Amino acid sequence: MDKKLIDESKKYLMNTYNRAPIVLRKGRGMKVWDSTGKEYIDFVGGVAVNCLGHCHPKVVIAIQKQAQRLIHVSNLYHIEPQIRLAKLLVDNSFADKVFFCNSGAEAIEGAIKLARKYSKDPVAGSKYEIIAALGSFHGRTLAALSATGQEKFQKGFEPLLPGFKHVPFNDVDALKNAISANTCAVLLEPVQGEGGVRFPSEDYLKEVRQICDENRLLLVLDEIQTGMGRTGKLFAYEHYGIQPDIMTLAKGLGGGVAIGAILAKENVAAAFQPGTHASTFGGNPLACAAAVVTMETLLEDGFMFDHCRRIGKYFKDSLERLKKDFPSYIAEIRGLGLLIGMEMTRAGGPIVDTCMGRGLLINCTSGNVLRFTPPLIVNEKEIDHLIDTLEDIFARQ
Ligand SMILES: *Cc1c(COP(=O)(O)O)cnc(C)c1O
Repeated sequence: MDKKLIDESKKYLMNTYNRAPIVLRKGRGMKVWDSTGKEYIDFVGGVAVNCLGHCHPKVVIAIQKQAQRLIHVSNLYHIEPQIRLAKLLVDNSFADKVFFCNSGAEAIEGAIKLARKYSKDPVAGSKYEIIAALGSFHGRTLAALSATGQEKFQKGFEPLLPGFKHVPFNDVDALKNAISANTCAVLLEPVQGEGGVRFPSEDYLKEVRQICDENRLLLVLDEIQTGMGRTGKLFAYEHYGIQPDIMTLAKGLGGGVAIGAILAKENVAAAFQPGTHASTFGGNPLACAAAVVTMETLLEDGFMFDHCRRIGKYFKDSLERLKKDFPSYIAEIRGLGLLIGMEMTRAGGPIVDTCMGRGLLINCTSGNVLRFTPPLIVNEKEIDHLIDTLEDIFARQ
């Protein structure tokens, strides 16, 4: 343990995170090393960010080259990598137009603004209310926090922004009942990641899409965690036979570099005109160059998606076998591609700590759900090693 650095971290940084007592210094592929030289296999992947693994050579080179050419100029000018990235996103999604920002929460803020702006009707009056789901997570800025359906994140920050209603996830009737004359949009994660890796029930998203169409509401999908191949398709909505009107992206988009995006259909995007929304850093050359190469690598021959689906199933099946051996520890396994949650019958924190001691980084969300969001390059051997370690930990308890 690097006591001096960790003491300084606690001295100088605001106390907003329960950080693990290690300082990570280097990463390659699935592995990271701390400041004492200890090696870890990383099943967190920067929380679903490092989709190609740590320091993928193509990403590193793209950043190096772009840094030598141009780092920042602002959106007063056209930016080559930003245009290329927008085209890649449009060519591979439901969307016609893209707006770039710098994080997930910022993408949600922009999506809320876009939905409200689009729904300002000079004749009919303005609709502004957004219905979101309980158990959702949309980020920490004030509007994103107001959209988030979990009180534990909101406590102490009241008053929240008005104009949000929350209904149980997977409850179509509750959603219908919540619609009022003021409702303009429904905001959902296709899979609730932070909320414990919770999946939509069969046909839920299709029914939501239909309800939105019947009531002329926008469907906004938050794919910040589920996007960029995480579930075995580029975007999770592709699994469910629907398309949103607006979608937010961030996390995996830049292959590790901070970037967020709002994608929308042409008619919706048209609500944004010069002066209505902006970002100084959004879509800067450096972040976009990293995102372009990340996306190109993901899309190459569809290789990564096939691998993600196959290895994700292998991972899930392995965890199911573990569950059979330890039914009193493990309540349920939920997963699609490489977004996998293992709900425990007890707190997950101590298991995360024990794994770390044994050179494995995993994450716990919602108190008792172990969440696995490794880079999409993870292989069988690494999964076997994780399973063996978990088995050993459970057997010793
Ligand atoms: C992580 C996350 C966010 C927030 O993204 P930040 O970049 O941390 O602001 C929003 N929505 C979902 C679904 C997320 O997983």
